[in-house]
Amino acid sequence: MTPEEFRQHGHELIDWIADYIDGVGDRPVVADLQPGDVRARLPEHPPSSPEPFADVLADVDEIVVPGLTHWQHPDFFAWFPSNTTYPSILGELMAAGLGINAMAWVTSPAATELETLMLDWMQELLALPERFRSTSEHGGGVIQGTASESSLIAMLAARWRVTGGVVNTDGDTTRLVGYCTAQAHSSIEKGFRIAGIGTDRMRVVPHDDQFAMRPDALAELVAADVAAGLTPFIVVTTHGTTSSMAFDPTPEVAEICRAHDIWLHVDAAMSGIAALAPEHRWVNAGLDAADSYCTNPHKWMGINFDCNLFWTADRAALIGALSVLPPYLQSAAAGTGAAIDYRDWGIPLGRRFRALKLWFALRTDGVGPVQDMIREHVAITQELAALVEADDRFEIVAPHPLNLLCIARTGDTVEATNAATDALIDAAHAAGAGLFTRTVLDGRSVMRISIGSRTTTRDHVLAMWAHLSRLA
Ligand SMILES: *Cc1c(COP(=O)(O)O)cnc(C)c1O
Repeated sequence: MTPEEFRQHGHELIDWIADYIDGVGDRPVVADLQPGDVRARLPEHPPSSPEPFADVLADVDEIVVPGLTHWQHPDFFAWFPSNTTYPSILGELMAAGLGINAMAWVTSPAATELETLMLDWMQELLALPERFRSTSEHGGGVIQGTASESSLIAMLAARWRVTGGVVNTDGDTTRLVGYCTAQAHSSIEKGFRIAGIGTDRMRVVPHDDQFAMRPDALAELVAADVAAGLTPFIVVTTHGTTSSMAFDPTPEVAEICRAHDIWLHVDAAMSGIAALAPEHRWVNAGLDAADSYCTNPHKWMGINFDCNLFWTADRAALIGALSVLPPYLQSAAAGTGAAIDYRDWGIPLGRRFRALKLWFALRTDGVGPVQDMIREHVAITQELAALVEADDRFEIVAPHPLNLLCIARTGDTVEATNAATDALIDAAHAAGAGLFTRTVLDGRSVMRISIGSRTTTRDHVLAMWAHLSRLA
């Protein structure tokens, strides 16, 4: 592709993206496909000669897009949102155009400094504790790809701290034990596996009827482990669990962590962004005692995937765990301690210039539109909850403080209600009422309705509810 062709196709592509977003609501939210259907429509072997860009775009229109689940669709009520916004898309494009690698300050000083600034801006906008700021004595933040990576690096930092930096096969490392509930995200268990802690050392703390961690049960487990000669090293609480958006009682958990010198990581991947609206800052409860915290602008905030923000109040432990410095990565700037080398704050060496999309969005759109969207989504969720409550064929099975509603069909037995709920989800998908996710909460089949797509309005939700009540 020549520079002239790039200019031409670039303009076409921007128009294509704008048209896609404009018309996404007119498409079916999910593709009706079997595994292998998409590949079967594409050539088995790479082309032997160059093809026109127009032919590629035509295949995108005819084969790729019809094979997508449309996460920007107003009837997307599944999993969690993965919103985009125009400035963030432009930031993503520019990052590709610049083609830099933000692995260290010296490999692109502006990329590192802009990233640090964005974390400090977001600390302010979310009203997070000052001790997470890069200008604080011991804290700081970094952009990770995902919350899964953040949980893993929190574990590595926690291990570093509790073992005094001795990570080898001696007794200290092999006696570690950590804690979360069964409602914690699957990435926590995955982290235990990847870190080599072992899932048998992941204690599942019982939860209450609101699906939140029971601090008394945590205290008992910790005491038993200490008595058995084990070393509690991390507790992960969740602010907004994936299945039901439960909030673990971090302030009470923090007291137990403090008493035993246990690292406290708070995973608020989905719900932490709610703190952009001051009335929802209760989601930050307990963070002033957390050692690390993360939330995902790539879910509800409109910063396209990937963009996870991770903060720690103990950057020395994180860097201690992750810094390995061969001669070819040394630099004078890093040697003085005046520069941040983000390769020491995460797993990969190479890093994308993700700060740009956040910076573009915060400067051009600002947080006003996001606050409006959050408020609207929360309000519609509460309105929907009232409708569900008034209908005795349905039941709400979990607290719904924000934008997730977990519902089930009512019935005489658990088996009957589970079967009816599963049937409702299948019928809703077959009828095109939207895309939903099934989950199980303490043995009960649940239909999760996540209201977080940027394009979802009250009308869409009311239409969806009308649809569901016809199908029930
Ligand atoms: C979505 C979610 C995750 C996983 O997020 P990734 O960024 O995709 O790793 C983890 N924890 C919670 C609470 C989530 O909502």
